[in-house]
Formats: sequence, structure tokens, C-alpha cells
Amino acid sequence: MFRHQPRGWKSFLPTAALLSKRSTSSAANSRLKLANKVAVVTGSTNGIGFTIARRLAQDGAHVVISSRKQQNVDQAVNTLQGEGLSVTGTMCHVGKAEDRERLVSTALEHCGGVDFLVCTAGVNPFVGSTLGSSEQVWDKILSVNVKAPALLLSQLLPHMENRGQGSVVLVSSAAAYVPYARLGAYNVSKTALLGLTKTLAVELAPKNIRVNCLVPGFIKTDFSQVLTEDPDLEEYLKKLFGIQRVGKPEDCAGLVSFLCSPDASYITGLPDPDWPLQTQLQSVGPGLQLPQTLPCCSSKISMPLAERPPGTHSPKGVTLQSQPDGGH
Ligand code: NAP
Repeated sequence: MFRHQPRGWKSFLPTAALLSKRSTSSAANSRLKLANKVAVVTGSTNGIGFTIARRLAQDGAHVVISSRKQQNVDQAVNTLQGEGLSVTGTMCHVGKAEDRERLVSTALEHCGGVDFLVCTAGVNPFVGSTLGSSEQVWDKILSVNVKAPALLLSQLLPHMENRGQGSVVLVSSAAAYVPYARLGAYNVSKTALLGLTKTLAVELAPKNIRVNCLVPGFIKTDFSQVLTEDPDLEEYLKKLFGIQRVGKPEDCAGLVSFLCSPDASYITGLPDPDWPLQTQLQSVGPGLQLPQTLPCCSSKISMPLAERPPGTHSPKGVTLQSQPDGGH
């Protein structure tokens, strides 16, 4: 499926590394669960994004690596190619339209299409109070964390539709549910991503494109270093989550690979934040033909709506009761 390197590849993207020598047609690779698929991963030269890119490639996908700095892209591509993985890369600051265009054209030029989009790139340029955040801080956070995934997906969508299916994974944060003090605008942006996930899941399900969201807790990376400066945090997190260690990027990568895989082909719109599903459906508005079930793996909502007894409680006690006005 992947095209050979065209002549002039190096002039097209001067420092981008070549596709891996690994044969994508070998019998061994074709048995991998993501064989012959193409994944675009933003913010994938370090931390969680890099580890996701590695895992998707280990599971058989060809991965397009990207981040703001070409030297980071080159380094990540070289590292993964050195591991025998099929990756290529280009520079892409997700907040810049021309960079997003280049990312899309790189994927098409060198891989012939796109099946998966994983939006890992995220920023937090300010630590302080929410109301102390300047307009520039708000603009940057919302532009990179929230607008960019939607805009990039809109550019990739026709190409995913051409493939007949697709999987999108947005990367939110536990801060969407439990706000970190001093990261106000960031918390808000990560909550917005949950809304974006649910909205896109509904819009794109008829096109066979699934949209889910990864919600990492505390993962040890350069990004989270600002929090590790607090000596009590690790102990607090162990108490909070029960697991007696903090997270590693690898803890995120398998889940993303699963969400892209055929095993997740009926999963979209996760996470389900215990929101009453009937309210979700009714709030879409009158006049729409709504399905009686939504494609979602959550055991909480796997029962067809029509079969749910009124007043049924979800495990965390949210009442799944009809709310005619769609209010909440
Ligand atoms: P990280 O280790 O700092 O890596 C960030 C990556 O994103 C780097 O490859 C960076 O490379 C790239 N990047 C930064 N800004 C970018 C932009 N505007 N456009 C494109 N690429 C950009 O961070 P991380 O901890 O892995 O975080 C990744 C994501 O997980 C973020 O969305 C973050 O909000 C989320 N998250 C992290 C944690 C955690 O505990 N670490 C918890 C919850 C959620 P360049 O410098 O070359 O651009």
C-alpha cells in the first residue's frame, strides 16, 4: 500500500527521514492488528505522543510523526526506524494552518491515505490563576488544545472517508474532571475536548469514523515536571488512585492502539462521564432520527435505551431517567 519514496523526497521535506526498511508486506507484519493502516500522531516526538507512535508502529501501522521542531522530528523518526518500525515525519505546529496542511500532504504523499488520527499535542503556557490568564494565554491554549484537533480532522476527513472507516483519538486529561489548581485555562481546554469528542462521535458515526478520548491521569513526562516539583504530589496521587506508582507514557499507548484496532470497531464517544444518555439524545434537538442504541462499549450504556427501566442507576449513581426538557 505504501508508495516507494518518490525521487526528490529529500527536497520535498529536506530533513525528514525515509520510510523504514521494514517490509510492510511481509507475512509477519500482515498479521499485526494495525497492518496496512496509516496513523497521523501530533505532538509525537516526546512523552505520551512518542510512545503512542511507537506502539502503533509496533502493532503494524505506518506512522507519521510530527511536532513543532524539525530536529525533534528527525530524532524521533531515526529512533523508531532504528527499531525497525515504519515511520516517517514532518514538522507540524498544530496551531498553524500551513503546518497542518503539510502534515496532511505528507501522509497522503507517502502513505496514500490516513486511517487514524491521534491528537496528542497540547500546551500549557501559564501556571497561575484562571482569571490571571491573559487573552494571549487563553488564545494559545484554546487554539492548540481544542481548535487544532478539530481543524486538522476537518482536513483529514475526506481522506479517512475514502478509506471507508477511521479512528480518531483526542488526548484530554484527568484535569477535565478534577481541575488542577493553578492550571485553570488548561483544565477548561481539556474539559472542552470531552465535548468535542462526544460531538464528533455523533457527527462522524454515520461515516464509520469513531472518535474517542484518552484521559491520562498523572504521567511522568517533561510536560508534567512542573507538578512533580511538589514533593507531596506523588504520595497524594497514590492515595487518590490506589495504584502505588505514577503513570508512564506506555500506560497510555496500548489503550490508543486498542481504540484504533478492529477490536474497538463498535466503540465511539468514550469516555462516558456518567452522563445520562437519554438526556444526551434528547438534547440533540427535535426532528432528528435518533437511534435506540449508540455504538459504545461502556457496559453502563450497552443496554438498548428502550429496555432501560426508568430510574435505572448507573454504577456511580446517575439516574438514567427521561428528562423531557433535555436540561441538566
Ligand atoms: P511532552 O512530554 O512535553 O511532549 C509534548 C510533545 O508535543 C512533544 O513532542 C512536543 O514537541 C509536542 N508539541 C508541543 N506543542 C506542540 C504544538 N503546538 N504542535 C505540535 N506539537 C507540539 O508532553 P506529554 O506529557 O507527553 O503530554 C502530551 C499530551 O498529554 C498533552 O496534550 C497533555 O495535555 C496530555 N496530558 C499529559 C499528562 C501528563 O501527566 N503528562 C496528563 C494528562 C494529559 P516539540 O517541542 O518539538 O513541539
